[in-house]
Amino acid sequence: MGQATESCFCRGAGCSRALVAGCCPRPLWLRGKNEVLKNLFGLSRGQIEAELVALGHAAFRGRQIYRWIYARGVADFEAMTDLSRELRADLSRAFTITLPSIAQRHVSRDGTIKYLLELADGRNVETVYIPDGERHTFCLSTQVGCPLKCTFCYSGTIRFERNLEPGEILAQLLLARDDLPTPPARTNLVFMGMGEPLLNAEGVLSSLEVFTDDDAFAVSPRRITVSTAGVVDQLETFSAKAPTIGLAISLHATTNERRDQLMPINRKHPIRAVIEAARRLPLPRRRRITFEYVLLGGENDTLEDAHRLASLLEGVKAKVNVIAYNPWPGAPHSRSTSEATERFIEVLAAAGLTASLRRSRGDDVLAACGQLANQSDDEVLERQSSD
Ligand code: SAH
Repeated sequence: MGQATESCFCRGAGCSRALVAGCCPRPLWLRGKNEVLKNLFGLSRGQIEAELVALGHAAFRGRQIYRWIYARGVADFEAMTDLSRELRADLSRAFTITLPSIAQRHVSRDGTIKYLLELADGRNVETVYIPDGERHTFCLSTQVGCPLKCTFCYSGTIRFERNLEPGEILAQLLLARDDLPTPPARTNLVFMGMGEPLLNAEGVLSSLEVFTDDDAFAVSPRRITVSTAGVVDQLETFSAKAPTIGLAISLHATTNERRDQLMPINRKHPIRAVIEAARRLPLPRRRRITFEYVLLGGENDTLEDAHRLASLLEGVKAKVNVIAYNPWPGAPHSRSTSEATERFIEVLAAAGLTASLRRSRGDDVLAACGQLANQSDDEVLERQSSD
């Protein structure tokens, strides 16, 4: 194999830059037949600094590279013009900056764009860009598929495969934003795509660190919302670690009996446990928790439901986001009538709750809430032609 002639990039003590078995304190990233280059995309500032230090460079070089990658979206070491030629060559021998790729895009009549991304392992995940006047929202996925299997959500119908890595979450914003003719100056992020964010709390928190860092994406935490079906044991730690990030809780029913049917997670985390956990969260001033409530015709949209919801949320710093149900092929529910929807919102408002109706966007390309399931081009075309 002629291993002794390979270069070693560790520059560890006793290492003469020729490969000496066992001299390296970390895995070797060797060029050659079995080349494995470490992907820097997805690493935190501290992790990139550590990689640079391990390579024998100053930590601040790591900081520069971190900014190039996330603040400027540069994936080519050669373009990092404030680094010496030698360092750039060193970097490309040891690392890559690799993102998932855009496999398909579907543009809705209302301007919403749904992206199907292909990940390094060949799996797929979706991201949605939702323009609304001056508001530009990116809806991010956190898992491939979703293990929760809520009956009204299309994502639950495909197989749950795995959590997304921080880089796979970060790349969703970068890819979708860079795909636009003019990338918006300010963006809103909602973690409301495929998956349950609090079942991938570590990956989501790591991505949030980079999303909100002024040296990286610099998205204001006030413009970020993480939506959860209410994983009670994660809620407290998550909000302690990310206290300024907006939280939305998917409630969708006012009795355990009904919620058990719609959201199997309710058997583990029933309504009152979820609401009590929300009540206990220390919230920044003027911040409220959003409760999401998708209205399903004749199932959870009665006046009694509205009154029960108002009393469940009594004393909670809450606002309610009433969501019009977005059906999908074979969906077992139907939309509430507009009268039932209006009445529902009126009851909440009369009880002093701020309640608003979330409009559906991107429905013609199956890009609306709860419609993400990695559909093929054909399925989307069929949808468009049936409208
Ligand atoms: N797992 C997370 C985030 C995913 S979905 C959660 O449960 O909150 C984001 C929101 O869309 C949730 O409130 C979800 O319940 C809602 N949703 C799911 N399917 C829907 C559908 N078909 N129509 C409208 N909203 C839906």
